[in-house]
Amino acid sequence: MKIVAKIAELKEILNEYRDQGKSIGLVPTMGALHQGHISLVKRCIQDNDCCVVSVFVNPTQFNDKNDLKHYPRTPKEDCALLESVGCSIVFIPEVEEMYPEEDNRIFDLGSAAEVMEGRFRPGHFNGVAQIVSKLFYAVEPNKAYFGEKDFQQIAVIRAMERQIKTGVEIIDVPIVREDDGLAMSSRNRRLTESQRKNAPKIWETLSKSYNFAKDHSVEETTNFVIDTLNKIPEFKVEYYEIVDGDTLQPIKDWIETKRPVGCIATFCGEIRLIDNITYSVK
Ligand code: AMP
Repeated sequence: MKIVAKIAELKEILNEYRDQGKSIGLVPTMGALHQGHISLVKRCIQDNDCCVVSVFVNPTQFNDKNDLKHYPRTPKEDCALLESVGCSIVFIPEVEEMYPEEDNRIFDLGSAAEVMEGRFRPGHFNGVAQIVSKLFYAVEPNKAYFGEKDFQQIAVIRAMERQIKTGVEIIDVPIVREDDGLAMSSRNRRLTESQRKNAPKIWETLSKSYNFAKDHSVEETTNFVIDTLNKIPEFKVEYYEIVDGDTLQPIKDWIETKRPVGCIATFCGEIRLIDNITYSVK
C-alpha cells in the first residue's frame, strides 16, 4: 500500500494504473476509520483494480470550528487498518496541499442541499462539494463510494456531479451499525460512558417508528421520534424530518413518495449524531 501526501505524486501513480487499462475507485473519508468506512473500502476493492482512500479532515465543511478542533485524528491506525484490508493507495494530504489558496467556489447544489443539514449547518455542503470535487479532479476515479449514513450528502454529491460532469459514478453503500444499533461514526468515540449507553436509543426509536408509521400520519410519526428522544437525558433533537428519498424534500403525506426516509440530527451532550431510516408504508 502506498501512502501519498501530494497530488502530483498521486496523479503520477494513478496514470500508470490508467495506462494499463485498470479501473480506479475512490473512498473519501475524514479518517478515524471504523467498520462503516471499511465497508466502503471493501466494496471499492471488490469493484476496482485500484482502491484509493483519502483521509483528510476538510476544514471548509465545518461550520462549527470547535467540532473541527476536536475531530478525532488517528492517521497511523487508519493506515494500518487500510493496509490490512488491501487498500492500494492512501491519500493523506496537508490542508495546504488541498487549499493552497482560499477556495471561493460556490456550487449550485439545488433544493436537496437546502433542507435539514443544509439549514442547520450553513456552508457545510458547499465545503463538501469543494473537497469532493478537488478529490475527483485529483484522482479521476471511475467510481466513488459514499455511505448512506450521510443520506443527504449522497444526493448533494450527485447534484454536484451533475454540475461538474467529471463522469464519476457515485455508488451508495448501506449504513453499518454497532451490535447495539448505533450507527458507526468517528464522533462516537467522543461520547462519555453514559452518553454512549443512551446513544443506541436513536436507532431503537427510529426502528419503533417504522411500525408506528403504519397506522399514523407523517406528522404523528415525526413527533413520536422527537418526543421520545427528547425525554432522554442529554438528548436534544435538532431536526427529525421525513422526506422523499430522491428529492430530500419534506413530505406531509405518506402517499407523496414511494421512498419515505426519516432523517435525524440530535445532540447527545455536545456531540451531534445523525442517522436515518427508510419507511415502508402502504
Ligand atoms: P466521514 O469520514 O465521516 O466523512 O465518512 C466518510 C464516508 O464514510 C462517508 O461517505 C460516510 O457516509 C461513510 N460512513 C461513515 N460512517 C458510516 C457508517 N456507519 N456506515 C456506512 N458508511 C459510513
